[in-house]
Amino acid sequence: DFSILVKDIKGKDFFLIYSKSPEDIRKLEPFGNAIQIEENTILFWRKEEMGISIPSEFQKKRLSKDSITKFLRAPPKIEFSEGGVRENEIIPLIIDEVSEDNLVYLIDTLQNFQTRYASTKNCEDAGDFIYSYLKNLGLETYFQPFSFRGHSSRNVIAEKKGKTNPEDIFIICAHYDSTSNIPTIFAPGADDNASGTSAVLESARILVKYPLDFTVRFICFSAEEWGLYGSSAYASSARDKNEKIVGVLNFDMIAYSDKLPEDLEIIVNQNSEWLAERTIQASKTYYDYPIRKIVSSSFLYSDHASFWQKGYDAFCAIEDNPIRNPYYHTTYDTLNTLNIDFLKSVVKLGLATLSDLSQPIRPDYPETPKGLRAKYVVYKSLFNSVKNIYISWNRVEGAMGYNVYRTTISHLNYKRLNLTPVLNNFFEDKNLKTGISYYYVVTALDSSGKESNYSQEVGVFEKGNSEDKFFLFYSPKVLNDDKNF
Ligand SMILES: [Zn+2]
Repeated sequence: DFSILVKDIKGKDFFLIYSKSPEDIRKLEPFGNAIQIEENTILFWRKEEMGISIPSEFQKKRLSKDSITKFLRAPPKIEFSEGGVRENEIIPLIIDEVSEDNLVYLIDTLQNFQTRYASTKNCEDAGDFIYSYLKNLGLETYFQPFSFRGHSSRNVIAEKKGKTNPEDIFIICAHYDSTSNIPTIFAPGADDNASGTSAVLESARILVKYPLDFTVRFICFSAEEWGLYGSSAYASSARDKNEKIVGVLNFDMIAYSDKLPEDLEIIVNQNSEWLAERTIQASKTYYDYPIRKIVSSSFLYSDHASFWQKGYDAFCAIEDNPIRNPYYHTTYDTLNTLNIDFLKSVVKLGLATLSDLSQPIRPDYPETPKGLRAKYVVYKSLFNSVKNIYISWNRVEGAMGYNVYRTTISHLNYKRLNLTPVLNNFFEDKNLKTGISYYYVVTALDSSGKESNYSQEVGVFEKGNSEDKFFLFYSPKVLNDDKNF
């Protein structure tokens, strides 16, 4: 269900406004148009030339001009899964490797730069340390320089290429810059955000030696505290290259607990809700931990928002929203105020999720199928229309059959379609509803019944307007694919 709010977005300014009470809509009406789009969030717009300012009591964020549809879509109908994810016996070994000593070492080293305030030499020195750390693990590592407000700094990026489909990319990231009341002199930023940085570096240290189906990038951003400059430079360049970033896990402040046990907040926009659900499912399978999912497209205060702005799915993991760490952005944000047990749990949870998404390759299992493609035909009668979807894939050597899975929510809740193994390398899914998008993955089976990892996902979605296509870009070329099999 949807309704048309504005027929033409040209010449108008759009804002998301944080709303504390239902009264807020009435207060905003004299200044423009306001509607509640989700809990605590109002969408506000007005003609550009009106120039009337929104009352300062409101916390607001201007939306970019390229598209506002991602903020307007109806919430995806997430079917909450009772269960966990498909188990991969390498993942428990991976999360067992998380080292408290290494997390403490990393945070201590980062706070000892005195400040990591972007624009200072100390911040660049911290960038050099992060670069060396990742490079010494044996990862392909590079800097992305960028400039902001008359200064310059660098993101640090390391990549582990996927063995099956390297073009599918998952990102774990955190900002390494810091701030305080005397930012150029002293800003230890232990919780904000040496904690998130330690999660990225520790994940890299552990994952480096495990072959994966899909690509993982480990990224530490700079100049977040100045206004998300590093991540927005990164997300823009990724979008310009049309990189297929499937999901982004952003960690910002994950080591302070105001209560025990501290739960972890996972904040998503509507399109990214599957990422929070996958985290909850990964937690059920691998590492039980309390998670609070918050769907809030107006939470734009960390690097995940740069990805949202470019139509990529991302979450922000944070200890508390609103923030409860009393040392936040002060010179007192130091290692001794942190709860390392909590941090360790979050890193384990993050690694479980990242591994579940990128899929460790198990020896002695069939290879993950490649080359999955899909096409569809719509059959129309006077009052009805249905579609048939045809999918095919490359044969896997030694496989005695295949399983085919389908979902209507990309990357979530796959259900097997076949009762007995599919013997050919193609499958027809018939009499499906039109107007609904379907997504598929395939696995290979060997004669002993061992089942491979999931293949890359392909999606078949109905032709929408161009903006819809833009935001669904990450499904491989399925439209107008005239390949036969
Ligand atoms: Zn932060």
